[in-house]
Amino acid sequence: MFNLIHPKLVTLAETEGYTEIVDFLEDYAQGGVVPAICMAPDCDHTADLEPDQRAGFCEACGRPSMKSGLVIAGMI
Ligand SMILES: [Zn+2]
Repeated sequence: MFNLIHPKLVTLAETEGYTEIVDFLEDYAQGGVVPAICMAPDCDHTADLEPDQRAGFCEACGRPSMKSGLVIAGMI
């Protein structure tokens, strides 16, 4: 089931310049590199990572908590 209202997904889309999460997901659904965001509550670091990334290393807080937008949305 898709989750298009996850707070981190909203933050990620806004960081990338999107006001609509659906537009963000459509643009990156077929991409080889997808914006990801750190899932730690006190960190909103973003980076471009693999579409299926679920535990990427965050360069801001040092935790393996980077998730791609497609994963957060439940599309992968
Ligand atoms: Zn972080």
